[in-house]
Amino acid sequence: MSRREMDILGWDSLDVLFISGDAYVDHASFGCVLLARWLVLHGFRAGIVAQPRWDRPDDLLAMGRPRLFAGISAGAVDSLLAHYTAFRKKRHDDAYTPGGKAGARPNRACIVYANLARQAFPGLPLILGGIEASLRRVSHYDFWTDQLRRPILMDAKADLLVWGMGERAVLECAYRLQAGSGRASLSGIAGTAWLEKLDAQGEPIHLPTGFAASGLRLPAHHEIQKDPFLLMRMTQQLEQQVHQGRTWAFQPVDGRALVLAPPARPLNTDEMDRLYSLPFTRRAHPSYDRPVPAVEMLQTSITSHRGCGGGCSFCSLALHQGRHISSRSQASILDEVRLLGMQKRKSRRGREGIAISDIGGPTANMWQAHCALREKSRAGDLPFNCRRASCCFPRVCQYFVTPQHEHVSLLRAAARQPGVRQVRVASGIRADLAERDALALEAYTGEFTGGQLKLAPEHSAPDVLERMRKPPLRVFEKFLENFIRQSRAAGREQYVIPYLMSAFPGCTDDDMRALASWLSQRHWSPQQTQCFIPTPGTIATAMFYSGKDETGRDIYVARSDAARLRQHRILMPRKRGLTDA
Ligand code: SF4
Ligand code: SF4
Repeated sequence: MSRREMDILGWDSLDVLFISGDAYVDHASFGCVLLARWLVLHGFRAGIVAQPRWDRPDDLLAMGRPRLFAGISAGAVDSLLAHYTAFRKKRHDDAYTPGGKAGARPNRACIVYANLARQAFPGLPLILGGIEASLRRVSHYDFWTDQLRRPILMDAKADLLVWGMGERAVLECAYRLQAGSGRASLSGIAGTAWLEKLDAQGEPIHLPTGFAASGLRLPAHHEIQKDPFLLMRMTQQLEQQVHQGRTWAFQPVDGRALVLAPPARPLNTDEMDRLYSLPFTRRAHPSYDRPVPAVEMLQTSITSHRGCGGGCSFCSLALHQGRHISSRSQASILDEVRLLGMQKRKSRRGREGIAISDIGGPTANMWQAHCALREKSRAGDLPFNCRRASCCFPRVCQYFVTPQHEHVSLLRAAARQPGVRQVRVASGIRADLAERDALALEAYTGEFTGGQLKLAPEHSAPDVLERMRKPPLRVFEKFLENFIRQSRAAGREQYVIPYLMSAFPGCTDDDMRALASWLSQRHWSPQQTQCFIPTPGTIATAMFYSGKDETGRDIYVARSDAARLRQHRILMPRKRGLTDA
């Protein structure tokens, strides 16, 4: 982060400079930090400018001009999502900033940082990445201005956009630029998008080597402006064809083409292990004089995998990480558990041992989950031709292998490591998967639930659940019965914390009243209710924008802040802090 640190490392210049909207926390959950360490592992010199001032380029100049490119990210969350609540009120806190106070990153951080980088380093290739860039890579609905916006690459005027998880793409960019072939060589890398001129037939004028002559034409920006349902069509095409690696695609926008290469190959277990064995200190940079709240949250949690097969229609995280699950090996996870145990024993209160708060991913019980059909097709036994948007909806796919007993063995092994006092699962678990394995469910309930288990039925209304691509309520109720019975058998007082959502597209006030009545029958008062936020790029957001469901049927949408708040208040009438949902 500074010239002094470069001197200590013996670096006279950087190869790659990352500009991030988050504070520097040396933890694998921070994308720029992960990629910087990944590049260093592969022989490059990478630096990070964290939360630079944006009224002048001075902060970017501190370590000099990087040799290859600048990588730009808004941080772990979209900058507008970080700054505004579901009711478009300004947030005051930011867990990724020293002191926890909002205001250390600009709105639309990718665009602002790209402008700064152009001022600081004229002519340097600029590459966007992270969740803000990833989810805004094609035309997208922007809830905060209530407008359809162009692909972010056009407004940021950067050279390339990396979408999804970036390890392979970023490394390939570094190799190509290192080879001296210049920015033109960046086109065609898997998992990236770039701008191209259109020819007289309306096709991209130049295609990278290896690309099939015709790709998928997505609806043009102006066509979506005229017919909002085309945003749904485009989102479905991306989900079913581009994300599944069937084709490359392009979207005509203002006389140019935004070209999307097929996705990058997900990391395999060896690569995941290599990545997570990098020497992260898990601490915020020592230059900060106030704590970064996210450090506390991450200190005792361990990532076991990335990706989620759930395919829920509102989920940005799974959209960014992908449907394929990349898992670490048990050995790699236990190494990290032992390291945490050792660090704890060296601390002042170390004799108690460490309480590991979580070993999980987007959904905890998907560690090592995989598609048996894909494996059979690799072995040449069956063709892989899956067109489903979810491995769990409308019911869990017969080919979706979820070895939860392995996850339970992992948790038990972690609990036996030296210096470990207890192990808990804090990531949400999916009830439909847990119901597949009675012994695993018993273990989650009896051994690894710290009094409260987070579950996300999200709603009770069948139509709403279907539009969310969530299992029917009876799945949750069956899980609940088992949970209560097993908690009693284990002699433990434990609760399920249900995650619920208001104002989802298609949800009426009557649906919310039915949900409230279902809760009151169980004497539950909801603690975790989120008002739906139409984040860029999801199927649910296309419903919100178009007023139609996935099949094109008209649906009611609580669109205004007043209508959304009214639905929210049906569940939480007397609570304060509603605007923080
Ligand atoms: S199960 Fe959870 S993480 Fe997975 S897609 Fe659904 S909401 Fe996202
Ligand atoms: S075949 Fe089943 S498990 Fe495999 S990707 Fe499709 S839905 Fe998921």
